[in-house]
Amino acid sequence: MLGEGILKGLAETAKNFVGSFVSAERLTTVQYPEQRIAPIEATRDFPFLVYDGADWEAGMRCVACQICEKECPPKCIYIVKSIDKKPDALGKPQFYPARFDIDISVCMSCQICVEVCPFEAIKMDTEFELSRTDRFGGLLFDREELAKSNEHYHKIHPTEAAQVDARLAGEKAKSDAKAKGAALAAAAKAAAAAKPAVSTENAAAKPEGAEIKP
Ligand code: SF4
Ligand code: SF4
Repeated sequence: MLGEGILKGLAETAKNFVGSFVSAERLTTVQYPEQRIAPIEATRDFPFLVYDGADWEAGMRCVACQICEKECPPKCIYIVKSIDKKPDALGKPQFYPARFDIDISVCMSCQICVEVCPFEAIKMDTEFELSRTDRFGGLLFDREELAKSNEHYHKIHPTEAAQVDARLAGEKAKSDAKAKGAALAAAAKAAAAAKPAVSTENAAAKPEGAEIKP
């Protein structure tokens, strides 16, 4: 029916308006900032960079691949890739962002940077009280201001953070198993290569007609 959606919406609004006089659950607004509502788990405001461990710089997951910078619709991310490398969570040497800025005054909280990041390095924060007196410099957040711990991520998005941890742990286990397999194969190859050398030595030392022992 034409206009059915509008009527449904108006009915919901009327239900909340009338209901708010009798039920606290129907009261959808509060007297902010004196009163506050705890953000729900799906709340997203502005991005932050996740780090593991206690040192934000050493533990930063970002490898400066710059995918988020390319995909950000209003182009408010600015990254400078490092020249050297540092080990990532899997122990693999990776580049890191020598500079990583986000202009929060331009960011539109679309979450595309989070969706495209292959390293679970950038997530959406629930912090929204970011007003500054300096409109330009004050809202250009650098990597240190953007860095927040994995514990913070667990606090604001516990379900999602637990899923991410499980996925990263699975990847680490696979990578460790692969490295172990490669080390065993290399050791076996080295042992196999050493065998003929021993046999040749035995052959050189062998008296005429004696049997060569492996
Ligand atoms: S949330 Fe959207 S606008 Fe903001 S930095 Fe990420 S991609 Fe850019
Ligand atoms: S946040 Fe993710 S997508 Fe952006 S540069 Fe870092 S690793 Fe790449």
